[in-house]
Amino acid sequence: MAGRARGGAAPQQRCPSCGSPVINELVGQWAALNVIADLTPLTPEQQEQLREPNRLIWCLRTNSLGHKRLFWVESWHPPDCRTGAHVADHLCPPAAPTTLF
Ligand SMILES: [Zn+2]
Ligand SMILES: [Zn+2]
Repeated sequence: MAGRARGGAAPQQRCPSCGSPVINELVGQWAALNVIADLTPLTPEQQEQLREPNRLIWCLRTNSLGHKRLFWVESWHPPDCRTGAHVADHLCPPAAPTTLF
């Protein structure tokens, strides 16, 4: 299911464990952090639930060239942030025995 692959776009990958689409990027000015984040934007309710120290929320912005970049949310961004979609560090979902669609 490869979508349109545009040259130069940030590599989008899949989690080797669960197959979810993720973005893998080095973030940070001083000590770069290797971040694997979900590509699915969080709803405001999910962001409230995820406000815990162990899981970071990132502001995923797409520039005019279509490059996706993760920005560290240093101060609180509104849940309906206009500059980017808010995504969280990727955690594999618990293994589900069956998937109902
Ligand atoms: Zn934001
Ligand atoms: Zn995973």
